[in-house]
Amino acid sequence: MKTVDITYRYEAQDIPARPRPSDSFAALNQLNEGNQAFAALFNGGSDEGARIQRVISVDPRDLGLLSDDSGLPKQRPFAAVLGCSDARVPIELIFNEGPNDLFVIRVAGNGLGSEVLGSLKYAVEQLSGSLKVIVILGHSNCGAITAATDVFLNPAEYLPFATKHSLRNILDGLLVVVQACARKIQSAFGPDISRHPGYRKALIEAAIVTNAALDAYSIQQEFGNNDPAGLQAVSGVYLLESRQVWAPCGGELKEIGLATAPRDPTGFVALGNAILQSGRIASLLQVSA
Ligand SMILES: [Zn+2]
Repeated sequence: MKTVDITYRYEAQDIPARPRPSDSFAALNQLNEGNQAFAALFNGGSDEGARIQRVISVDPRDLGLLSDDSGLPKQRPFAAVLGCSDARVPIELIFNEGPNDLFVIRVAGNGLGSEVLGSLKYAVEQLSGSLKVIVILGHSNCGAITAATDVFLNPAEYLPFATKHSLRNILDGLLVVVQACARKIQSAFGPDISRHPGYRKALIEAAIVTNAALDAYSIQQEFGNNDPAGLQAVSGVYLLESRQVWAPCGGELKEIGLATAPRDPTGFVALGNAILQSGRIASLLQVSA
């Protein structure tokens, strides 16, 4: 077992401000590289007894240590991230970022409720000088989507939620996605696939990545920019098992890293196919010899 130190380091001296990504390409790249660096700290290698240190530099301005005229740090995140409340997905940590880098919103199931949309609208309107991307981040084994999937597979499980309005709101929004994924899986593999031992798990994981992509599509329509270098919505799924962000993309072999939102219904069809063809989902639905 190796030891990993992750250190936030600031130096209280008047150094030049830490540069921020200049456009959405650079922002996406920084997030993907940050997640790869985080995952690499723990993955692979048999460096038994090794001590690995990761230093994340913090600009003293972002903690208010080098004050400007107002004496307060200026808010300047380069990405807004909507993630699930799940405690196993600490957003700044998994992207290798620090204070004032990310504008983070977390709700169970990372759905687009009115408060979430309002918060994103604030970020887009008030932080446009620094904001380059909006990230929708699901995660594997999401409890909210698991609950929605179980209700879809066994509608009697909806009854306990009947009098819990707030929980129903979360479930109802996710059920549509689960239903769409179930149809996609059945049209690809045939109706008998629902008896496959891996079906429930595959449906959960397909719904998680589809839900994030659907959110990103909605955000792109509402706030995005036609210029690819302008503000863009992207999505992915943080895999608890490998600590990497996963996002199958239509027409691309690359599955690791955040992906830009589908642009239209054709893009969603391509995404659905890419999800079913991904090694992750396909392995759950393999027909045993
Ligand atoms: Zn979750």
